[in-house]
Amino acid sequence: VFDYLFAHLSDDDLERTALIDGPSGARWSYRDLRDQAVAVAGALAARGLRPGDVVGLLCPNTPAFAVVFHGALRAGLTVTTINSLYTPDEIAAQLTDSEARLLITVSPLAPGASAAAEKVGLETGAVVVLDGPGEAADGHPSLRDWLTAGQPAPDVTIDPVTHLAVLPYSSGTTGLAKGVMLTHRNLVANVAQSAPTLEMVPDDVVLALLPFFHIYGMTVLLNLALSQRAALVTMPRFDLEQFLALVEQHRCTYLFIAPPIAVALAKHPLVEGHDLSSVHTIFSGAAPLDAALGHAVEARIGCRMKQGYGMTELSPVSHAIPPSVDLPLDSVGYTLPNTECKLLDPATGEEVPVPDDGESAPGKLLVRGPQVMAGYLNNPQATSDTLEPDGFLHTGDIATVTSDGVVRIVERLKELIKYHGYQVAPAELEALLLTSPDVADVAVIGVRDEDGEEVPKAYVVVQPGHELDEQGVRDYVAARVAPHKKVRKVEFVEAIPKSSSGKILRKDLRAREAGRL
Ligand code: ATP
Ligand code: MG
Repeated sequence: VFDYLFAHLSDDDLERTALIDGPSGARWSYRDLRDQAVAVAGALAARGLRPGDVVGLLCPNTPAFAVVFHGALRAGLTVTTINSLYTPDEIAAQLTDSEARLLITVSPLAPGASAAAEKVGLETGAVVVLDGPGEAADGHPSLRDWLTAGQPAPDVTIDPVTHLAVLPYSSGTTGLAKGVMLTHRNLVANVAQSAPTLEMVPDDVVLALLPFFHIYGMTVLLNLALSQRAALVTMPRFDLEQFLALVEQHRCTYLFIAPPIAVALAKHPLVEGHDLSSVHTIFSGAAPLDAALGHAVEARIGCRMKQGYGMTELSPVSHAIPPSVDLPLDSVGYTLPNTECKLLDPATGEEVPVPDDGESAPGKLLVRGPQVMAGYLNNPQATSDTLEPDGFLHTGDIATVTSDGVVRIVERLKELIKYHGYQVAPAELEALLLTSPDVADVAVIGVRDEDGEEVPKAYVVVQPGHELDEQGVRDYVAARVAPHKKVRKVEFVEAIPKSSSGKILRKDLRAREAGRL
């Protein structure tokens, strides 16, 4: 990965800005980034870390994250990126599962990191506090110590096909997060496959608001944007007002978001107070984007909105709409180059036929290509359940494809509501309800009614200043869908539970329902 990104920097590239620390405005050129990453590789090797050793990285989005991430890859280490909202127990679980030998963090997260490191029996020196006072002061090395130590970077030989570059964990939306083994080839392939489709250019300024620890931000920001010699503006923690201010201040041109941010961009009053005219493209991924919502963002911001699809197991991208191509926004566009996909009938397992003209029936989506993971860490059962011997990966999602090769994600197989034998996709009802001006946010799950029948229930956040009652919600949906898709139960809530990668946590809503029984 390091060589792919940084071995061929031209003189012009070296002078370009790679990273801007959003809050302070401090800049790193591509030369700074490359040289600092090499110094980090040297320091890591000098500590006795060898190719294949695992290091944990628990750090918000900052330029230091990028420097350390690429430095560790340069040293042949395997980086396991840790959600910065994790508790010490969750951090400890990931350190144990991944067998990390070193944990790299920043001072605000250091207490939790140290507690976790202690739990799993790492010595104190095995916690590195990037912005800490340094070795002499507190026994923890810091990034400054590493950069000034001047250790030569080790010579490492990496077999890209087998060497694990990263061990990110899946979002844990449907159950426990799973460690996903991604090789150097997986990451490089996914950058090479996505780059022509995403049409990013060196003059793009990309706001890095998606967390780097999750595969979506890792690939499109830390790897793809840097491969295109664009500038990354980092923001450590998502905050709508700061996000809008940074876009305005740095004249950002290209944004990657998840649907909750599209909701804010379309509906939040704060947006009016900022000049976002520099933005030409916004890409949404990680969860279903409603087309009407996407068009509302386009109209309000004056940019084009596109959608892509992927999962941790796919490094993560397999589908995207190219910015210059006009495709329905409720689709995830074309299958990337060098990627195959097929749909299997959920009932029979037979391949779903694609009509000569029009859209296929929904089927289970399988994907094959160089971005498919090597497997789940320490979980051969899950690996063999997910990966076919011929290389196809079961995505767990239901999709359709048109004769033109445009793919639409219908819903996760696990989330489909079975109502009297009909299948109802919560995502479709959520998208519909979001088109109501009275609805600020919404989530739909299947719950049991009095007769034990599974029915759609909507959790609704009312748009501030608007009035909406249960009947209003039911009527809005009933007027627009077939009878079996009607929302049968409604509850008003303050906020919808979401994961840090932007997904609705339906399992939390289900747990809430279960707690009521
Ligand atoms: P876990 O597997 O741990 O339960 P997760 O599947 O949410 O969590 P990720 O790998 O982050 O973990 O997410 C991949 C999933 O996100 C896909 O399987 C799909 O359900 C959903 N997804 C991603 N992009 C889109 C999209 N554009 N439209 C609809 N769903 C999407
Ligand atoms: Mg998943």
